[in-house]
Amino acid sequence: MLLFHSLKASCHLSSKAFLRSRIISSGVIGKMSCSSWNYVDQESWCHLPNSQSNGLNQSPIDIPTKDTKESPEISPLILKGYEQKLKGTWTRTSHSLRFDPSGPAPSIVTYGGAYILRQFHFHWGDQPGCGSEHLVDGSSYDAELHFVHEKESPTSNVPNAPDQFAVLGVLLKRSKGQGGGEVWEALKNVPQVDKKIEIEVTPSQLLPANKSYWHYGGSLTTPPCSEVVQWFVFHQILSVPDDVVQRWSTLPSESPLPFNYRKVQELNGRKVWLLKDSN
Ligand SMILES: [Zn+2]
Repeated sequence: MLLFHSLKASCHLSSKAFLRSRIISSGVIGKMSCSSWNYVDQESWCHLPNSQSNGLNQSPIDIPTKDTKESPEISPLILKGYEQKLKGTWTRTSHSLRFDPSGPAPSIVTYGGAYILRQFHFHWGDQPGCGSEHLVDGSSYDAELHFVHEKESPTSNVPNAPDQFAVLGVLLKRSKGQGGGEVWEALKNVPQVDKKIEIEVTPSQLLPANKSYWHYGGSLTTPPCSEVVQWFVFHQILSVPDDVVQRWSTLPSESPLPFNYRKVQELNGRKVWLLKDSN
């Protein structure tokens, strides 16, 4: 079975009471006042420069699995270089933890063309069952990993083409205890905000063995929420050691980040495609 059971979590930032409790418990608002945006007041993202956050093709979404369809045009992903060790920098930004490759980067080929890995980063929550950006049939997971790729040869010179980026989304579920392998050991060490450390990872260790995915056209999930992303969200859920997420969400810092997920957006009639990997 590909999918683990998940909690039916109502953790997305929809109620004012929820927002108030977050503001009080985390002190996020006051401490984040120097940033131009934060995760508590997502409604205000639309006022940021060049924001498309009120557009009709936004991400993340709640994936309605019974309405997803296969298509002969949608082919399996081809991944190149993901099995090799990759050096890069691991950075604590104001809004996430991000890995930027420093050498030749892995790439993918989708049905729409070839894309190069630019970075990967994580989204998480501060309570069990919350933290993923995408939901599946209303269920949320504990964290989500995004591998962000940029198109190698853009098919048009139009800025903000809807296929400029291809992002692979991996849903993560907390596993009890510590450990979890060398990749998580590397990602557990977190630098101070806006500082970098050099690490080495094997990206394939962060991908599910089964490459079945859901696919749709959407946006960046952080401001300006540009509608430039082809999303590929894997069906198979991976485990992340509990102590790793705990560490990310409770870092003592001048800019705390107990949670960093955007609430789900309307589908607005978009189709979500399905590709089944038989391996
Ligand atoms: Zn992301």
